[in-house]
Formats: sequence, C-alpha cells, structure tokens
Amino acid sequence: MISEASGRVDACQYLSPAVPIPCFHGRTLVDESASMELSPRLRDDLLNLDAWSEILTTYGRTMRVAVALTDPEGHVLGKCHNAQPAWRLIHDAGHGWGTGCPFCIATSPPCTAVAEAMQTGGTVMVRDQAGLTHVAVPLLLGKRRLGAIIAGQVFDRYPEPLPLRRVAKEYGVSAQQLWDVARKQRPVSRAILQASGDLLCALGHAFLQQRYGAILEANLAEANRRFRFLVEGTRDCALFTVDSTGHVTSWNVGAERMLGYGEAEIVGHNFSCIFTPDDIENRVPEKQLSKALQTGRAEDDGWRVTGNQKQFWANVNITALLEDAGPVRGFAIIVRDVTERRKIAIILDEARWDRTRLQEKFLSHVSHELRTPLTAIYFFTTNVLDGLLGDLTPGQREHLTFALDNVKQLKDMVSDLLDITRVETHKLNVEPQHTSPVKLIAEALSTCRTNAAAKNISLRSDVRPDLPFVWADPARVRQILINLIDNGIKFTPEGGTITVESRPIVEGEGFLCLSVSDTGCGISPANREAIFDRLAQVKSRAEASRSGLGLGLFIARELVSRHAGRIWVESQLGRGSTFCFTLPVFSLAKLCAHVFTASNLAKGFVILIAVDVVPIEGVVQADILPEIRRVLERCIHAGQDVLLPSMSDADPVETFFIVACTDPSGFTVIASRIGRELQNFDSASRLKPVVSSTTLLVPPGQSTKEQTGGVTAGIERLVRAHLLGKERLK
Ligand code: ADP
Repeated sequence: MISEASGRVDACQYLSPAVPIPCFHGRTLVDESASMELSPRLRDDLLNLDAWSEILTTYGRTMRVAVALTDPEGHVLGKCHNAQPAWRLIHDAGHGWGTGCPFCIATSPPCTAVAEAMQTGGTVMVRDQAGLTHVAVPLLLGKRRLGAIIAGQVFDRYPEPLPLRRVAKEYGVSAQQLWDVARKQRPVSRAILQASGDLLCALGHAFLQQRYGAILEANLAEANRRFRFLVEGTRDCALFTVDSTGHVTSWNVGAERMLGYGEAEIVGHNFSCIFTPDDIENRVPEKQLSKALQTGRAEDDGWRVTGNQKQFWANVNITALLEDAGPVRGFAIIVRDVTERRKIAIILDEARWDRTRLQEKFLSHVSHELRTPLTAIYFFTTNVLDGLLGDLTPGQREHLTFALDNVKQLKDMVSDLLDITRVETHKLNVEPQHTSPVKLIAEALSTCRTNAAAKNISLRSDVRPDLPFVWADPARVRQILINLIDNGIKFTPEGGTITVESRPIVEGEGFLCLSVSDTGCGISPANREAIFDRLAQVKSRAEASRSGLGLGLFIARELVSRHAGRIWVESQLGRGSTFCFTLPVFSLAKLCAHVFTASNLAKGFVILIAVDVVPIEGVVQADILPEIRRVLERCIHAGQDVLLPSMSDADPVETFFIVACTDPSGFTVIASRIGRELQNFDSASRLKPVVSSTTLLVPPGQSTKEQTGGVTAGIERLVRAHLLGKERLK
C-alpha cells in the first residue's frame, strides 16, 4: 500500500517483518585500542565514498551483488555500487539513493540489518518475504560505530508472479519490466551471500584501518607543516628546543633575530650562552631546567645576552617535553624581548610611587596640621568641662560634651588616615615584643569605658589571668582591641553587652585567639568579608557608621597580618557579632632557635648576659630605653646571639638580656663592646652599664628537643630571678 502523504511504501502491510539471521559473528571491525575523539569531519573523511568506490565496486562485481555504504541509521551514503538492473529500475522510477536502505526500501529506515549490526557489533543477514536478502557489516573504529556496508540483491530466486506484481505496483514500475530484469539477473545463492559476509567484513576492516592510518598521517603531516610554518614564521619571539642537558636541538628565525646566533652556529651548543655571566656562575640555566623538569614548566623574567653581548630584559617560558611517564625528551623554550614593556612598567611604577608619596605627604601634612588645633580644642574643652574656668550650666555642659565627643572622633579619623598612608607606603611597622595580652585587654577596656557608659552598654572581660604572653606590638594590639570594642559599642543598641574573651587555640599550637563579641545588629553573610576592605561600610547602617571612615577594620586586618595572624567575624543578623583575631604566642625557644642549634648545644653551654643600665645620678628616662636597645642590638653578633625583648610586665625595665653561645673570651669581647658603645652613645646621659653573665649547662645525652626545653626553662628562671632581685634592691 502506498501512503498518500509521502508516496512511500508502507511495507508492513504486505511483507512480514524482516527477521535478522545472525551470522559471521567471528570477525568485526573492532579495534579496542582506538579511542580517539571522532569528529564529524573525521567520520566524513573515513566514509568518503570516492575512497571506498573501488573496493566496493570490485567486491560487488565479483560477488554479483549490489553494495552500499550507510550511516549508523542505515541511510545509504551516495549511491549503490554495482547496482543491479532491478535497482536501477526502481531508482529511475523516483526512489533515489540516499533516502534509505535500498535492500529494505519497502520498510524505510531504519534498516533492520544495519540497526542490528550497529547494536551487536557483528555482521547480520536479513531476508524478507519479498525475496529481498542482504548482509550488513558494521564499520567499527574502536568502540565507535561509523556506519555499515550493506551488500545484497533484489531477488535471490525468480520471484513468484504475485509478489513481483505487488512490488512493481508499490514502486510504480511495470511488472513486465521488473520481470525482464529479474530474469536477466543471475542472482547468487543465499549461501554465497552469507559466505561473502566474512570476506566483506575482512575487506572493510582492512580498508578502514588503512584509511584511518592514511588520514592520521595526513593530519600529522599537516599539523607538522603548520607547526613548522608557525615556528619559522614567528619572528617576534625566539622559539627553540634543547635536549635534557640544555644543548640546543632546534632554533627558529625569531631566535636568530633576537639572540643573534644562526641555527648552524648554535645547534649542539649549550643554551647557557644566552645567560649573563653572573647567572651562569649561579647555575641559573641548570636550575631553570630542573624546575621545569619538576613542575612541567618554568617561567622567568631576567636579563639575557645576545651573540653581540647586548643585554635585553626577557620573559622566558620553559616547557618540559615529556612522553607519558617516560624520561624527559628535552625542553621547548620561548623567549620574548620585554625590555620596552619593562621600561614602561618601571616608569608607571615610579609614577605610581610619586603619586602615592605625594598623596602620603599631603595626607600626613594635613593630618599633622589638623592634629595641632584638634589637640588644642580637646585640651581646652576638657579644661572647661573639668570646671577649671568655673561652674557650667547643664546646657553648657551638654553642648561642650557633644563638642568633645566630636573632637575625639575627628582625632580617631585623623589617626586612621595617617595609618592608611603608612599602609600604602609600606611603612606600617609593628615592633613585636614579649607582650601580656591580659594587660592589653584591661587597658583597651578601660579606654572604651566612658563611651560604653554613655550608651549604657556593659563591658566584660572573660579572660584567664594566666594567658600566655604573645609576640606582638603592644600599641598596635591595643589599637585593634579598641577599634573592635568601639565598633561593638557603635553597632549595639543601648543596654547591650560587649565581651572580650580568649578562645581555645584555633591555628594549632603557637597562636592565641582573642575575640570581641557584641549583642548588636550583626552582619549579613554577604558583608562579612567586605567590611575588612578599605572604606567599607554597610549601607543600611549609615547613621551609626557616620562617626567612622570605614578604615578601622582594614587597618586592623593589616596590623593582624603583620603579626602573622588572621582576623575574621562570626555573626548572625540581629543577634550580634564576634570578631576574632590571632596572635603568635611568645616562645623563647623559637626566638632563640638560631642559638639553640645542635652544634651549639653540643658545646655543652649557653651564656645569658644581663646588662643593667644604671644611672650615675637620677633615674633612667623611659624614652631613652629604645635607643639603648638599638645600641645593644649593634653590640651582639647579628644572627648569632639574641637580644631578648623586655620580659617583664613592669614597664619600663632597665635590664636587657642577651642569649649567646660563646666562650668566656667571647663574653669579654661583648662586655667591653657594650661598655664602649654605651659611653659613646650619650655621655651626657651619664649611664653606666653593668654587665654580668651566667653560664647555663646543657645536659649531654638528651634529645635536641629536651636540651632546648631545659635551656629555655633555665633562661626563664634566671631572667625572673634577676628582675625579682633588682625589684627587691629598690
Ligand atoms: P567604621 O569606622 O566605619 O566603623 P570599620 O572598618 O571599623 O569602619 O567598619 C566597617 C563597617 O563594618 C562598619 O561601617 C559597619 O558597617 C561594619 N561593622 C563593623 N563592626 C561591626 C559590628 N560590631 N557590628 C555590626 N557591623 C559592624
């Protein structure tokens, strides 16, 4: 029956469904090793009809069958080879090639045999009731199904007149014509067709492999040609390869132009000739190759030298040429001359620095200029508020208190601005020392108490009195704490609470964590990182933030990171925030690590030198102590001995301790140097250094850790005893 809509045959009406006859399961075109990506272009190339034409025609002629290539769905690609007269007849009647499988044209695609062959990966033979028999051989490349070859005939026996007439009617050809061609045709038997399946499979397989190899080779040759073209045509950068020992194996035109060596001249020579003499002496070429070998790639910016001994600033990329898990075959090196780029970068950098310096100068000038009148306003307002100029009416007091609050805010802003300029010019220094966190917390809380009281906010400290000492700049830690507490007060409604606590150590041993919690408005997750940025303020809190510049947390983060710690916030909107930061715990052993080396400990002793600075008359002025510390710093052997920080809570302390591993004569040298230097330092200050020493014995036969622990404890005991003794003498 011919379907009205499409004009095609609906075979199911009079043909029983084609039954696949599995056969030839022995051989398929499977190559498990091939697992490359199969692009549509490669697929088209592999199934190129012209390439297959000869083999298909020869096979068709020899076996007296029609042959065609199909896609995986069974559509004929192009035309049928060795098409038999019956097929030509049907084809000429308007059933063109390429619309479906010619052998089961009546069933229309998908071809049952191809579908089965594609699914099983094996060869399949189909014969239907109209006498149409054909074989489908799948074309497989690795696991990929490319398509199939189908071979067959229209009739494998002279057809009965009735089916013949039906077929003729369905295809719109005359029954007589069909009968004529069927008679002329000398059909092969099904047995031969079946046997030829094996042959077709072998032929197809061999041809596909050969074609695949040829395509790969052609692609490789094309890639090589393009690569050569690229390498040779690249004139602005040097491209060359070296072997695993650094000897040049190839050299492009760009390399010749840039580095001044011809290919013949340089191939076989070590590429170190393009390095400066200093780099060669420091074995930089070898180090770069070994880095590329370890990490696969090495990049470097530095001076390189041409054959004419001209230096230029180069950007160099070295890539190791490795074969999967095999030894290195060599290195590909790309050199770019970036001298001009560097010059521009330097100019831009200098311009930026000039701008920053100018900005810093301006800010620092303005800040200092603002500070003087602010201090005067602060001073005189405080005097008036303290009643030094007589009693104030409640109204006057209220106005003046308001003025004083604003002056304080201005002072804080000015000092934030000064810190920011220091951050920008890398001058925000911290001077870490042996510092008591308990004392700093108490000081910070007492500074903030007035502000808190004004808002009826209670300040609490919940820290153990025996917190370990930290290695930090006390003034800077105080600044961080005050900033966090002040923020807490600012963003907490009246009647709230601010608590300063210490937390269990979070960063592993060696760090102390301090936290400031409030019961305020909290911070949304989106803002928790951003508030640490410069000038960051949460928009919805414009009112409360007005008294700040959005610099406090930025400066706090800079300060904490200069102590090698970190700062973060934990918060819940509407339920308060907890700002935490870490500081390194003071460790005498860590500080003295370079004195407590295994070879020094093996000497069996470490010397502790105490320098007491005694005034000839009066007392030692506290502000001179940092100067004395700097003088003593110069008197010890840099990197060999240690000048201990002030290890007492009582500030200032006029005793300095030096840990040294030296012999007694070495001690005499240090002592006389200290005497001389302190005298030169300021004869007017009339200071007398009293230098004494104690030798700590290192017990032999212990591990280095035990010995270090023992010496550290000994030094701590001696320091405490010395300071206590001095205290008693006073
Ligand atoms: P500012 O001087 O403006 O307070 P900071 O850098 O100290 O600048 O803080 C930046 C912003 O972070 C503040 O404007 C505020 O929005 C938010 N913030 C800081 N501390 C708190 C806090 N304890 N509770 C809620 N928000 C806070």
